[in-house]
Formats: sequence, C-alpha cells, structure tokens
Amino acid sequence: MKKTILLLVCFLTLSVITAQQHSHMGATALNYPNIEGFVTLKTDLHMHSVFSDGNVWPTIRVQEALRENLDAISLTEHLEYQPHSADIPHPDRNRAHQLALEEAKEHDLLIIPGSEITRSAPVGHSNAIFISDANALMKKDADKAFAAAKAQNAFVFWNHPAWHAQNPQGNPILSDFQEERIKKGELHGIEVINSVDYAEESLALALENDLTIMGTSDVHGLIDWDYTEKGKHRPITLVFAKEKSIESLQEALFAGRTVAVYNSLLVGKEEFLKPLLKESIKVKEVKYLKNTQVLSVVLENVSSSALLFENAMTYNFYSKSPVFEIAAGATEELQIKTLDTKAEITLKLKAIGAFVEPKVSPIIEWVLTLD
Ligand SMILES: [Zn+2]
Ligand SMILES: [Zn+2]
Repeated sequence: MKKTILLLVCFLTLSVITAQQHSHMGATALNYPNIEGFVTLKTDLHMHSVFSDGNVWPTIRVQEALRENLDAISLTEHLEYQPHSADIPHPDRNRAHQLALEEAKEHDLLIIPGSEITRSAPVGHSNAIFISDANALMKKDADKAFAAAKAQNAFVFWNHPAWHAQNPQGNPILSDFQEERIKKGELHGIEVINSVDYAEESLALALENDLTIMGTSDVHGLIDWDYTEKGKHRPITLVFAKEKSIESLQEALFAGRTVAVYNSLLVGKEEFLKPLLKESIKVKEVKYLKNTQVLSVVLENVSSSALLFENAMTYNFYSKSPVFEIAAGATEELQIKTLDTKAEITLKLKAIGAFVEPKVSPIIEWVLTLD
C-alpha cells in the first residue's frame, strides 16, 4: 500500500511538473548558441492566422513555434485587410493574440502582441509589436496609425520593403513617408529577409538608417508545407537579449541586437554576427598527423544552420576544397599544411553565407593551441 501511495505521489508530482512545462519539440527544433553577455532568442515576429488573411487558427502558430523550439512569436494580423471577416467577424483586433496567449500559457514561449499596419505603396506594410491595444492603431491616415503605435511604445518594422507586388523592380524604395517615420522615432526596424526573399538593398537601408535587421516567415499557410517538407526551416530573427523576457526582447530589438537567419543565410551587424558564428563552431581536436606538418583540426557546428566557409589563411588545406560546408550539428575535419610545426596558429575562415553588408562576409578567427 505504501508503495502504491509513493508511486501515486510520484506520478502526481510528475504530472504537475509536466502540466506546467512540457515539450512539443519536433525533429526540426532550432538551436543557436548564446553569445557573450546575452541569451540568443529565436523569434518569428511576423505571421498570420484566419484573423486576417492566414489559413489557420492562432493556436496552430503556437504549436508550430513549440515544435521548432522558438522563444517568441507575434501574430501580426493585418488591421485593415480582413478577407475572412464575413465568416469570422471580430471587432476586437486583439483577439488572435489572446487566443495564442491562452494556448501558450503552460509553455516557455513568449507571445508578443502585434499588428500589421497595411497600406499600398509607398507606405507599404509595417508591423507594430509590443502594443497594448491593436484597436487603437486603426486610423484612416497611416501617419496617425504610426503615431498611435509610438504612443504605445511599440517597436515598428517595415515589412517586405522589396516586395515585387509593391515595387515591381524588386528593390525597396525609401519614400518620404518612411524617412519622416524614422526621423520621428516611429520606425525602428526593417525586414531584410521575408519568407523566402532576401533583399541586399534592404540590408543597405538598415545600415544607412540604423534600423534593426529582421527576418520573418510572414507565414499564411503551414510552416510544414512552406518550409519543413522542403528541407528548410523558416526565416527567424535571432535577438541577443539580457534575459528571456518580453521586456528584454523589446530592449534588445530597440538596441538593434539581431541577426536574421534563413538556413545557410545569416545577415546582421558585424558586432553580433561575428560572435554568433564564432560560438557556432566548437574546436573539438587539434593535432598533427604523425610525423608531418599537417595539422588536423576537428570542428563541430552546434547551430541549426549549415555554415559555409572559405579558407582565409595563408596556409593551404591538405585534403579539402578551400570552400566547404559544415552541416547543422555536424563535425568536419580540416587538414592544414602549416609548413613548420607550430605551437599555436590562428584559424581564419571567411563565412561566405553570412553578410555584414551587401556582398561582404566576415572573417572569423579561432586561436588554436597545441599541447
Ligand atoms: Zn505584408
Ligand atoms: Zn504579413
């Protein structure tokens, strides 16, 4: 009997624990290392449900994010574009967020309130996140909507500025409207990656105007159909926050501490992209092949992005192309011809899938010591 009671107590304790925090992580769980002084939050801050022009109920967005091990999402329904409103009338534009929040309540996933302010070009589409009331952003004039977002201390970013439906050349055009918003402190970020599109011109605009670099899925259907089943993962923004909380995420976005990621493509300011790449590669082993000056270096990629590199040292490789990939989670051996036996060398690799400016890839260095 005692045993039965003990077992029952154990079972109940376990049930309580699992009810509070349980995992839905799938095979596509994403992992990226922290960088010094910050936790790396995996976020997708642009997505839709049936509460605007998406095709799923908001709870699905939460479940998808849990499967992918994301830290934060925002359901950014179009305030003005409501194609399902005859079937799903909802005068309260906060409703999608509330449903997502309810779904996520026993999970370690931050749900950020947001909305997409939607106009034709040149105003275009922008997301306001960390808002307190989406309804207050519904204004006839776009500048009034942005002012209302600012009044709620929202972080606002320009969505898909290069979208060919609004800019037929596929290039973003910074109009007087955006320039004024930036000047007034009403526009803080810009998507350089939106769904499967990367615009180098948007990266240039981000750097010129000191806007936070963003990558988002803008998913309307299913993540599985759009990405997973094609062997890809959704675009995300890695945010380097002081801790995992809504307040810290907001602070980090305003401070511009991000890297946009879409599989092997990583885009960010040098000061964040370089440490992220450095932390993503762990040096597992350094030793000379017996009786040679050929140095064997084993590297492990602990990130969920396949990383592309090019040898940036004066030393040549013995057995590998100077351009190579280390798959996500994989280990690769380099064999470096150091000519003399060294006690220490600096491994220098150019990360050719990563960009700190249009067409500019950073060189990452690791000091290797031999014992
Ligand atoms: Zn949009
Ligand atoms: Zn959208």
